[in-house]
Formats: sequence, C-alpha cells, structure tokens
Amino acid sequence: MNTSENISSSETETAPVVPCWSCHGPLTAGLAFCPTCKAVQQPASVDHFIRLGLEVNFDVDLSALDKVYFELQRALHPDRFATRTTKEKMYSQAQATAINDAYETIKNPLKRADYLIHIKGVNVMPDGCNLVNDPTILMEAMEVREKLASAETISMVDAIANDARAEIKDVIAGISLAFKGDDIEGACQLTTRLKYLTKLLGEVRQRRTQVS
Ligand SMILES: [Zn+2]
Repeated sequence: MNTSENISSSETETAPVVPCWSCHGPLTAGLAFCPTCKAVQQPASVDHFIRLGLEVNFDVDLSALDKVYFELQRALHPDRFATRTTKEKMYSQAQATAINDAYETIKNPLKRADYLIHIKGVNVMPDGCNLVNDPTILMEAMEVREKLASAETISMVDAIANDARAEIKDVIAGISLAFKGDDIEGACQLTTRLKYLTKLLGEVRQRRTQVS
C-alpha cells in the first residue's frame, strides 16, 4: 500500500515555471493571472486539476472547487477586459473557456473518474477506460431494465431509483479507494458501473413519466 502510494505521488505531475508574457516574472504554468503584474495569461496546456490549482486526486472538496471556479470567473468577466488590449481580451476569453471545461469535468464524479483514468492510466490502459461489454454489467442491466419495464406504479419506479442512487454512492466510494491504491483497472471497472447506473437513472426518470 505504502509503496504504491509513494509511486503515485512521485508520478504526480508538477507544473513547470514559465515567464509572464507581460512582466517576464516567473509563474507556474496553468495560472490564469501573473502573481507579479496580474496580467491575464494564455491558457497553458496543463491538466484540469492543475488549471484550478487542485491536487490531481479523485477526492475533491466540492465547496473549495466552487470557490476557486467562481472567483476565477468573476476575475475573467468580459466587463473587466472592456478597456484592455485585444491580446488580453483574447486570453481572458480562452481562460474562461478552459476553466469552464476543467470545472465541468472535475465537478461530475463520472467525468472526473473518466478523466483521471485517462491521465493516470496511460501505461496500463493506453486506450482509456473502455469496458462497454462487461458481461456482469450487461446481465445486470438487462434484469433491471425488465424490472423497470414491468414497474407499474410511481413507488415501484422510485424503489428502483433509490437502489440505483444507493449503489452510485457505494461505487463512488469504491472508485475513490481504487485511485488511492493506484488500481487504475479497478477504477475503470467501477467507472463502467457508474456509467451504467447514471444511464439507468435517466431511464428511470423517463419511465416515471409513463406510470401513475
Ligand atoms: Zn507578469
């Protein structure tokens, strides 16, 4: 356990230090603004976590994430750049887009898991997490869909939804443990299950409109 944790921390990407385009002062790649002259920077090609100043980790403090995101969006608001140069307007728009992408990915546990597998699993899973034909999940999905199709009351449909939500909670906890143990394949299996459960919840919502 300790060994794998040590390996994972030594592999954690650290952003390089680059010069600010405006004052040439040093700044960590991924920062939206220069810490010295406050000039907006062109978005660097860093991962979504680094872009938001977060640790590359599945466990995310969602209120801290919101805080960082809304502060950055306020600082990058077009009104603040109305009288700035074309270059600064362009950089601020590009930053706002990059920060939105990062936020949408990290906020959603399924997208976050998929993304982490993508950046941590390049050696074990060069094609990313792609287990669409997991036989256990296919079998289970078939059974639940039959159950859903034959559910004729709202309470029967809601019972299926509640089971799915409880399982989603367990699966997310499992994904967190898998990443902590650097078990990317395990995380991928659970992420596949999370995909199926998320899809199922959508089908449940649809079925709910058909029963009374
Ligand atoms: Zn600067």
